[in-house]
Amino acid sequence: MSASKDSLAVITRFAPSPTGSLHLGNARTAFFSHLWARKSGGRFILRIEDTDVERSQLRFRDELMAEMRWLGLTWDEGPDIGGPSAPYSQAERGDFYATLFAQLAANGAAYPCYCTAQDLELSRKLQRMAGKPPRYAGTCRTLSSAQRAEREARGLKPTLRFAVPSNQIIEFTDVVHGPQRFVSGDIGDFIIRRDDGTSAFFFCNAVDDSVMGITQVLRGDDHLTNTPRQLMLLDALGLRRPGYGHVGLLVGADGAPLSKRHGSTSVHEFRERGFLPAAILNHLLRLGHTSDVDGWLSAATMPAHFRADHLGRAPARFDESQLLHWQKETLERMSAEQVSAWLGSGDSADFVELVRHNVVLPGDAIPWRAVVSGDLPPLGKDEQSVIAAAGPEFFAAATDAFDQSSSDLKQLTKILKERTGRKGADLFMPLRAALTGQIHGPELAPLLKLMPPETARRRLKSHAQNT
Ligand code: GLU
Ligand code: ZN
Repeated sequence: MSASKDSLAVITRFAPSPTGSLHLGNARTAFFSHLWARKSGGRFILRIEDTDVERSQLRFRDELMAEMRWLGLTWDEGPDIGGPSAPYSQAERGDFYATLFAQLAANGAAYPCYCTAQDLELSRKLQRMAGKPPRYAGTCRTLSSAQRAEREARGLKPTLRFAVPSNQIIEFTDVVHGPQRFVSGDIGDFIIRRDDGTSAFFFCNAVDDSVMGITQVLRGDDHLTNTPRQLMLLDALGLRRPGYGHVGLLVGADGAPLSKRHGSTSVHEFRERGFLPAAILNHLLRLGHTSDVDGWLSAATMPAHFRADHLGRAPARFDESQLLHWQKETLERMSAEQVSAWLGSGDSADFVELVRHNVVLPGDAIPWRAVVSGDLPPLGKDEQSVIAAAGPEFFAAATDAFDQSSSDLKQLTKILKERTGRKGADLFMPLRAALTGQIHGPELAPLLKLMPPETARRRLKSHAQNT
């Protein structure tokens, strides 16, 4: 790699907490991070943030890695493949964090806090009553070593708090939100090590981004106000600051954060329903990011169309009808073999070719399978009226015509046209409705060929009598 390319290479990461399924919103930030790294010839790192031992589960880690692979979001360093900054699971990085905790404590930049949950609750209550925003009052900041020893002797397990420097202005330029300015006086001393010795999110998340060489952090803008805390930590440790970009939240049609009540929210659910990776990626590419191309893009060409300065801060509206649109576009570009594998039912090649333009999700093929080799569902209103309008004589004639033509629709309609004088839609619609149970669908002639002749005849004849 040339020096100039090296200096432009962007190193990004996805840092999920393995506490649930991969949410579409997280998949989107992972995707943008992936695109940015690929576009610049940089690296994309997967780091698992599993220091919260109670909520983290190995099965969630494995599932989210499987969903990322399925989407095509491959990583260059990660827990399964290692890399220069290994280990990539934070639960395994405790020793490293411990040296940094010791360093901060030795410099007076962090101190043990013995406050109990009740102490903290009481303090917050008092602050609220005084009309102040609740934040840590600094109670343990000035404890003498004798006072600390006394609390240790009582068996109190301390957390470690970062001593927020007073009168400091923290500034950075967010890739999405532009220049940011925070005042340290608004920020209370916060916990960087839990009382069980594990690192709190603020801490391990910030130091790992720095030491893993991340140049651009992309994440949801619910983290925007965390960033000044994290920058103070990095400054206190003498660690390099990465760049930050906070993208707008993913919301449902009603503007509320995308959640269960909107329907599917996890990549896993969309995958189970039969959505295709390219469909999901085409939708995500336009959610909170303006693409310079309106049409469908292959995953391989997407990095060239990503621009960090086209990321938006407004909430991005997830719209399943848009996803369905991209799903159709994706299906149109698939080979017969791919469609057949996606349908997954061992259908004949003729069947797949016939129905592929009438299905968006694999379940949509089920009624067509019934049309060729099963029973028709009860007729809908439109179908009933089309059939009633044609009348029993029409179907009696159609049954006779079928006996001469068998499954050759061209021949059948020719005979029927001569017998009834009907043509065009008046001729085709009642036939289609009777034979398939629907007035829309794949081409009728090949569909008729796929049906057992006795089935087709029975369907025509069933409307030949007034009931
Ligand atoms: N583990 C954090 C989360 O899932 C990471 C946030 C970040 O990207 O910095 O919310
Ligand atoms: Zn305290």
